[in-house]
Amino acid sequence: MAKNKVDIEQLIEMDKKHFLHPTSAISDQQQFGPAFIFKKGKGIYLEDVNGKKLIDGMSSLWNVNVGHGRKKLAKAARKQMEKLAYSSCFATFSHEPAIYLAKKLAELTPHPLTATFFTSGGSEANETAYKLARHYWLLKGKPFKKKIISRKKSYHGVSIGATSATGLKEFRAFTKSLAPDFYFVNQFDTTALERFIEAEGPETIAAFISEPVQGAGGVHVAPENYFKEIREICTKYEILFITDEVITGFGRTGKWFGIEHYGVAPDMMCFAKGITSGYAQLGGVMISEELHHELIELSKGPLLHGYTYSGHPTACAVALKNIEMIEKEGLVKNARIRGEELLEGLNKLKKERKIVKAVRGLGLMAALDFKDEHKQKNVLFSPLVFKEAASRGLICRAVTLDGQDVIVLAPPLIINKKQIRKIVQILNDAIKAVENAHF
Ligand code: PLP
Repeated sequence: MAKNKVDIEQLIEMDKKHFLHPTSAISDQQQFGPAFIFKKGKGIYLEDVNGKKLIDGMSSLWNVNVGHGRKKLAKAARKQMEKLAYSSCFATFSHEPAIYLAKKLAELTPHPLTATFFTSGGSEANETAYKLARHYWLLKGKPFKKKIISRKKSYHGVSIGATSATGLKEFRAFTKSLAPDFYFVNQFDTTALERFIEAEGPETIAAFISEPVQGAGGVHVAPENYFKEIREICTKYEILFITDEVITGFGRTGKWFGIEHYGVAPDMMCFAKGITSGYAQLGGVMISEELHHELIELSKGPLLHGYTYSGHPTACAVALKNIEMIEKEGLVKNARIRGEELLEGLNKLKKERKIVKAVRGLGLMAALDFKDEHKQKNVLFSPLVFKEAASRGLICRAVTLDGQDVIVLAPPLIINKKQIRKIVQILNDAIKAVENAHF
């Protein structure tokens, strides 16, 4: 382990030479080395190899819901590993953690989503949802129902199908070689969706997918009636409605699942991230009771889709303990209350800082949008604010994709009032420093 300056320099060199980082600029890595090398975490804090402590204002990748350093989760993993580290779930082989978790998930969802297919993460969950939707229509004798409609500025992951459903242009441009049958409509435009369905023909459309709150695309919260209208349109045209709750699940928005804010029931729901708070890799798709019954009726051969780690025992055991902690510690309610405080703080900040255009959020997902005038000068504020905030001890995220200039926040659900105030204060100071440098 790195102990002194020489060790740290070696780590940086090894990183540059051998580590190809996900979703990172290779040029930045080679020029500056890794942005941080973290060593440990506790609560809402991360600490790097230099001993610098930072608030993890993004719950890392929107996933460390119960915070860092939670020994109960380490214990749950160890106990399960020692008992049964792995056994397959193919060919109807089963084990206790997956069974208990699938049952627990069915109890947690307010609407009748009753059966779960497990994956290792969110991209696989979405990939599975598209395949299940198409498979279902095949079984129903409707082989042409295969198009998936998604939304602009959405993010659904990086496997080919999930990238093809991702509305953020830059992700689709990465290889330009995408899966067929994916289409996009404007974020909150239900009229455009209906027009699109009629133009293409509902008999060609398998499913509509959306995040309850668009996360990676810059925290965009849907208007109040949006999902009710979506549900009605999907029902009217026999299109499956898939919600991608990979970020919004497990308390993040102040309810167990984001779609609960809108009072509608999806046909499928994808999840990952917060189900284990990042302590193990797990995702999945839940399907409605109705869909499940139909699959039971119609299925003939095996469901030829499965990952080696579908229903990994250790990941499932960690998920069960993590859900128990969210319940016992009242973290869903805490996310709601702290989220309101965060929005209030950011709205106050907006009045003081002239480069802030808008504030958005739901629960512990929040965004600060910057004014556009400076873009002609090729200046984006969010990366500058990110840097200033990091130097003051706060990690947030700068979203510059698809023409945006936004800072987003998603702190762990265990955060307290004082820590929320601290985040707002650091951001205010960071933005002030950027304003002073530019005006
Ligand atoms: N869906 C949403 C809404 C996400 O935010 C993400 C990841 O950020 C994914 C899917 C992909 O999940 P994973 O990175 O676990 O594959």
